[in-house]
Amino acid sequence: MKLNFKSFFRDFVEIIYPRATACIACGKEARLYNRYGFCDTCYATLPFIEAPYCSKCGRTIKEGEECNVCKDTNHVFTQALSVFKYETPISDMIQRFKYRNNTYLAEPMARLMVDAIEDRGWEFDGIVPVPLHVKRLNLRGYNQAAYLAYSIGKLMGGKEVLSTVLIRIRNTPSQIGMDRDERMWNLYKSFEVRQGHIVEGKTILLVDDVLTTGSTVDHCSSVLLEAGAQKIYVATFASSVYE
Ligand SMILES: [Zn+2]
Ligand SMILES: [Zn+2]
Repeated sequence: MKLNFKSFFRDFVEIIYPRATACIACGKEARLYNRYGFCDTCYATLPFIEAPYCSKCGRTIKEGEECNVCKDTNHVFTQALSVFKYETPISDMIQRFKYRNNTYLAEPMARLMVDAIEDRGWEFDGIVPVPLHVKRLNLRGYNQAAYLAYSIGKLMGGKEVLSTVLIRIRNTPSQIGMDRDERMWNLYKSFEVRQGHIVEGKTILLVDDVLTTGSTVDHCSSVLLEAGAQKIYVATFASSVYE
């Protein structure tokens, strides 16, 4: 990832005020030399998704503009990115973040996402987290995507988070093990936009923790576009489909 002045400044602040004493992946005490909070051993093995990227879904491609999957898929969003492949230690981190209340991970995760967003040069007006259905939200106690959205907003100089615009109106079964078509049906009419004027004419950054087939973010993008949003970018921490 290329360095710019903003990230240089953040590094500088971090050196003066180190914020963590334990590696965010393995938990071992470590002197932290990188700005994300990983120990050097973990950092050296991180499964970054490398350029060149598919111009649509953001996974690594060997040649051309789009990956083989995107050539046959009509994604509704403009472009997506994921920082990592969904592999260890990233997959374990996401499990802790999502199901074990390790919400302090939102900030270091968002930092990695912000660097990737700045690297792509995306400009947008507001951030929308992929919502959970209210029943699942009550069960888990928090929406991990909203944590990421607020941390990204904060790190990007107070970008607005539009957290009430997009809602999930159907509590769909878990999508683990479903292919793209099954997911599309499963998600049919699952999302709705409230107070659409808030997104009218705006470029939106849609945020989630994991990208799989892209059907969830496609559904979200399509209702946001119907409500008058101009363009949707998608940022996720990891992608479980990357080859
Ligand atoms: Zn470590
Ligand atoms: Zn693609």
